[in-house]
Amino acid sequence: MLRKLFGKKLKDKAHKKIIDKKTGEELLLCPRCRIHMEKLKKKNIILDVCDRCGGMWADFGEIEKLHDIHKREVEKYEKAQRRK
Ligand SMILES: [Zn+2]
Repeated sequence: MLRKLFGKKLKDKAHKKIIDKKTGEELLLCPRCRIHMEKLKKKNIILDVCDRCGGMWADFGEIEKLHDIHKREVEKYEKAQRRK
């Protein structure tokens, strides 16, 4: 739904990439600040985070992965609580 509504706009504005000369990685430009975003890697998820405005960019499917990890963590926590 969101993708449908904003897909074009986001593609035009946010999907400008530059290549990090040191690592060879593709870095996204923050659509707001127009500076490159840092890669935040956790487990198998990569988020692009803007240092200036705190904006975050998640690739398609990354939010679902994040949600799954969160769900597992909550289940683990609840199980541990029940054992007490
Ligand atoms: Zn920004």
